[in-house]
Amino acid sequence: MCIFCKIVAGEVPSNKVLENEEFLAFHDINPKAPIHILIIPKQHIKDFQSTPPEVMAKMTPFIQEVAKLLELDKTGYRLIVNNGKDGGQEVMHLHFHLLGGAKLEWPQLAPLEEAKKYV
Ligand code: 5GP
Ligand code: ZN
Repeated sequence: MCIFCKIVAGEVPSNKVLENEEFLAFHDINPKAPIHILIIPKQHIKDFQSTPPEVMAKMTPFIQEVAKLLELDKTGYRLIVNNGKDGGQEVMHLHFHLLGGAKLEWPQLAPLEEAKKYV
């Protein structure tokens, strides 16, 4: 069982923010911003690329509800999904990072040699 499935099962503790039958939101153990929430489906889906559209259709309003609960709808936030090796995904269970609580930076993520071909 993956670490997030263990959190869903209650075998690993987490600081929960919101849950319903299908989704769970909890604080990231290693926050990258004043507010850093992970939002996951309770069902094990390995990554965004393999996520069925029906799951996203239900996950979208859940994410919006979490943002509202934390009043990030008023101040703004960033939603990140890391997919696969180049995306830097470490936990192979779909999760959205909801980040906020401060004006976030927008750092360069990699050397630009490749991107320069396109701009
Ligand atoms: P990824 O790099 O896969 O997009 O993000 C995985 C995230 O999960 C990281 O931000 C990491 O801090 C978080 N994380 C990993 N293990 C745990 C855990 O056991 N509990 C919590 N709350 N967060 C975790
Ligand atoms: Zn899992």
